[in-house]
Amino acid sequence: MVIFLSFIIPFYGLLIKKINFISFILIWLIGFIIFNYLSIIPYLALITVLGFAFISDMLNKSKKDLLRDYKDILSNVSVSFIAVLLYLYFKDNRFIVIYYATLAGILSDVLAGSFGTLSKGKPVNMFTFKKAEKGTSGAISLLGLYLSLVGGVIIALIFSLEHFNLKYFILISLSGLLGSIMDSSLGALVEVKYKCTVCNQETEEKYHCNQKGTIIKGYYFINNNAVNLLSNIIVFLVCLLVLI
Ligand SMILES: [Zn+2]
Repeated sequence: MVIFLSFIIPFYGLLIKKINFISFILIWLIGFIIFNYLSIIPYLALITVLGFAFISDMLNKSKKDLLRDYKDILSNVSVSFIAVLLYLYFKDNRFIVIYYATLAGILSDVLAGSFGTLSKGKPVNMFTFKKAEKGTSGAISLLGLYLSLVGGVIIALIFSLEHFNLKYFILISLSGLLGSIMDSSLGALVEVKYKCTVCNQETEEKYHCNQKGTIIKGYYFINNNAVNLLSNIIVFLVCLLVLI
């Protein structure tokens, strides 16, 4: 039964071509383990993140799909899944809180990234909170910040369906904000950016117009997946320190 239930959402993703076959198998397997060995509530948190990622991909047709291949899946949910494995081994509830917190970070980044850019107002520099030009390093829209908090609160509410604890609720909500801010700042500071040699467009993709672009910013080994993985690790470690 659980095998079948955990099959539905990833299979839908495969059907609408938002994920490829290996991603489908990975999400099914990870989802099955969470559903079967924890419960339906933590699974609900996982598919909420997936659902928003699918919606975001549909709205941003120009962007690469968030969870297209196995590298996207691993960089996004591996840290959350490690928290699940640690919980199953140590039977310590704090790892469950960290699981939700890392998912909050991912969802907040998805929400801020796909809907925050719709903001008409000028973004602010996240280090100084002064107004900044759109697209400059470290710039984040206020709408993006609100959406990050909303992402955290959504996951914290799902967590509360099973056990309510105000301290954990606040920690998970703020982890959304932290994950999203980490993603934007790492994206601005160290992520590799290319310029297409054909159409001159600045892009995160190595290949554009079937040509290899030239690096104009960042480190060549830090792509978008590395940024996602790093910010997940930061959320994991910060929560671990808070909960010790
Ligand atoms: Zn191009």
